Amino acid sequence: MSTYELRCRECGKTFENQPRSICEECFSPLEVTYDYEEIKKHVSRELFASRAPNIWRYRELLPLPAGFTPSLPVGFTPLVSAPRLGEKIGSRRLCIKNDAVCLPTLSFKDRVVAVALANARAFGFDTVACSSTGNLANSVAAQAAREGFKAWIFIPSDLEPAKILGTQVFGAELVRINGSYDHVNRLCSQIADEHRWGFVNVNLRPYYAEGSKTVGYEIAEQLGWRLPDNVVVPMAGGSLITKIKKAFDELILLGLVEPKPVKFFGAQASGCSPISTAVKQYSHEIEPQRPKTIARSLAIGNPADGHYAIKAISKSGGWSEDISDPEVVSSIQLLAGSEGIFTETAGGVTVGTARKLIQQDRILPDETTVLCITGNGLKTTDVLANCYQAEKPIAPKLSEFENYLASKIDASKIAAAALDNVTPIAGAAGTQPFSSADGALALEA
Ligand SMILES: *Cc1c(COP(=O)(O)O)cnc(C)c1O
Ligand SMILES: [Zn+2]
Repeated sequence: MSTYELRCRECGKTFENQPRSICEECFSPLEVTYDYEEIKKHVSRELFASRAPNIWRYRELLPLPAGFTPSLPVGFTPLVSAPRLGEKIGSRRLCIKNDAVCLPTLSFKDRVVAVALANARAFGFDTVACSSTGNLANSVAAQAAREGFKAWIFIPSDLEPAKILGTQVFGAELVRINGSYDHVNRLCSQIADEHRWGFVNVNLRPYYAEGSKTVGYEIAEQLGWRLPDNVVVPMAGGSLITKIKKAFDELILLGLVEPKPVKFFGAQASGCSPISTAVKQYSHEIEPQRPKTIARSLAIGNPADGHYAIKAISKSGGWSEDISDPEVVSSIQLLAGSEGIFTETAGGVTVGTARKLIQQDRILPDETTVLCITGNGLKTTDVLANCYQAEKPIAPKLSEFENYLASKIDASKIAAAALDNVTPIAGAAGTQPFSSADGALALEA
């Protein structure tokens, strides 16, 4: 007998295991539920730690069919302390969970796809599919190729070129839709009713979503089996943030970490902020939006798990904020320049939102705060296109270089002199990430 099955989140009706995401009684979403009494007898910190560093080390807590053998070491990305970024945004105990380097396609979506495909195989699908804002497309295409599935990928037509190419290269069928993600997703629900395909985020969604829990398990284990005070999570459909919470709750239930309140903070781009808008209005209902932001991986105007994300945030004593597109770009640069991590727009959203939450005193400097960086900057280089000039090339001569260097030093002295005439804003020095003073120092060093 399996230790898990599908259960309706609202009426509690159970459905065993099948490719289905909605309750036939009350039309609420289904979720995987586990026999924790049974699991508790078998798991321990030592057991997990003794296994290879990837998501499969937590296999008892994932919905994996009997006989499943993983073929890829997905996950177990670094959790690193971020003192330089912390100094700039006002946190003394800041950590980054770096899924910009997740295997195989450099986003946290590799976790959810790995778990979804394990189930697609068990349900007998030979074709897998998804509606995607970009990263899911990359991951389904890559893992389908590796596992020998045919793949059909549906995307809004305006995705970043690297995300389109990074899907096609794996040989997937790519269908571009004139419309937003929400249109694409609605179409995929209709296609899933007509074709016997495993849509990872439609009919396989409950299994897919469980893959996100591994972010939470890893954070706890990497903190030495402790929970942080705060987590800041970017939100699209709102699933990841609810699953990190589920992971922490499970670890407490199984006695693997000390019980402790963790505040959940959701991050969005202002141009698509249905969840943060609801939180800021103390509302529990999502008002759908028409997305308009460069953070395309988060551009879901009608988030499937929005209601549950709001609940997770508000019950934890957390909050949600959103930032403008220019702030997304400057936050990408801030993270890269301070910690050497190049994230995509979603990571910019997370860093910029964290900074805002610290300024609002919702996150305090001495609390342990984890920022979830969920995707890689090489996939969204288009948003930085106008930020840097191509320097004029010089001849391969030492004298040319010395001239070049002298001109640079002159330029930075002029910039520094100009700054001497500017009165600093009281109290703001430590929290202004892009004061030109930083730029001048960088040039002189
Ligand atoms: C999909 C995605 C998210 C958000 O995921 P949800 O579970 O839908 O909220 C965050 N970051 C990146 C990079 C993503 O691709
Ligand atoms: Zn129900």
